[in-house]
Amino acid sequence: MYLSKLFIPTTKDLPTEAKIKSHQLMLRTGMIKQSSAGIYSWLPLGFKIMKKIEQIVREEQNSIGAQEMLMPTIQSSEIWKESGRYDDYGEEMLRIKDRQGREMLYGPTNEELITDVFRSSVKSYKSLPQLLYHIQWKFRDEIRPRFGVMRCKEFYMKDAYSFDLSDEDAKKSYNKMFYSYLKTFSRLNLKAIPMAADTGPIGGDLSHEFVIIAETGESDVYADKKIFEIDPNVYKFNDSSLLKMREDFTKIYAVTDEKFKKEDFNKLVKKENQIITKGIEVGHIFYFGDKYSKPMNCLIDDKSGKKTSVKMGSYGIGVSRLVGAVVEAKYNSSVMKWPKSISPFDVVIIPSISKNNKENLEKAEKIYNDLKKQNIDVLLDDVDENMSNKFKKHDLIGVPFQIIIGSKSKGNNFEFKELNSESEILSLDNIKIKLKS
Ligand code: ATP
Ligand code: MG
Repeated sequence: MYLSKLFIPTTKDLPTEAKIKSHQLMLRTGMIKQSSAGIYSWLPLGFKIMKKIEQIVREEQNSIGAQEMLMPTIQSSEIWKESGRYDDYGEEMLRIKDRQGREMLYGPTNEELITDVFRSSVKSYKSLPQLLYHIQWKFRDEIRPRFGVMRCKEFYMKDAYSFDLSDEDAKKSYNKMFYSYLKTFSRLNLKAIPMAADTGPIGGDLSHEFVIIAETGESDVYADKKIFEIDPNVYKFNDSSLLKMREDFTKIYAVTDEKFKKEDFNKLVKKENQIITKGIEVGHIFYFGDKYSKPMNCLIDDKSGKKTSVKMGSYGIGVSRLVGAVVEAKYNSSVMKWPKSISPFDVVIIPSISKNNKENLEKAEKIYNDLKKQNIDVLLDDVDENMSNKFKKHDLIGVPFQIIIGSKSKGNNFEFKELNSESEILSLDNIKIKLKS
């Protein structure tokens, strides 16, 4: 892609409500455009990054055996009346009527709808366990949408649902999801800490919020610093290892405000290990047994032929919120560096261009074509602008690698720079090796 062709409407004057760095950067680099409060269009640069995050989420769901499907955004009120949540959900639910006057709503989440799909098709324990997920827009009429994509009315979420015969089996599904979440966030180059969350009337300890530590987060976080030292990569994908993994995490104190009790914190965590900070919730997993299956009559035959309510859990990841969360975690001292796995481009070529010297641009175009042939996704900055402005701009766009065609590049050796590091002079072959590693 040539930068001059990229649709990237940058904003110079930031609105006063853009208070946090992700909101500012995403507007400044034309990733998003607000259409009304809490509702955004995703422009090419932002959309590309979000799609890459979505793909990683998808791959890690598939790899634990979850199956992708797609449910609609608009739901009928009937199923919500069955579960009892139609009234409880309150004003966050956007309620609509169709032309026949039927009560519809824009789905804020999908427990009811998936339960309805499941009860009409699965009758026997033999079809269990099942893990189903979709990645779909949600709508919640948040009272105070703010911080750009972090708290929107319309947002993009991966939500998965597990179905099991017994509590014991359901815990295995829960542990698989726990594992998948740790892998997903680590591929995004994020350290997301699972924190014990409220389970409501169901009780037990099977609810975790995955939280990224960030000053601008909306959750208050209280943790033992030992939880940051657990390496999720040591656990194998089998039931006993996954149980050990969850236990290893769960036995160390880490909670958000809703579960925080000062006495417990002081009793269980040594003073020097206590961390009190802010975080962004990027995922939430929750085991709720028959909370929906019971009122909605989602029954299956167990081994003895007896009808029993299926045991369910739900598992969300805020895909669109994650775009902002990555910026909050990675944008420092006016430099944004996207993790390689989700960067909008693999590399940017920045030639020094002047009106009477097109030689550098020609060199850049040759490299551009060569890299494209190797399936490297490359951006070429063909804009006629001085180098210092270009560097400032690319510090914001955040492509992690740059090939700079200026005075330091000679013959077939080029200046190659990784953001936040010193540049080096490398042959094109060595540059390719670096980009592909
Ligand atoms: P919060 O406490 O932030 O309101 P929640 O508990 O309502 O979150 P869930 O219902 O568990 O969230 O939704 C799953 C995930 O969807 C959250 O972990 C978060 O990443 C994302 N999410 C929830 N609400 C929003 C929103 N208004 N805008 C963007 N993402 C959201
Ligand atoms: Mg909420």
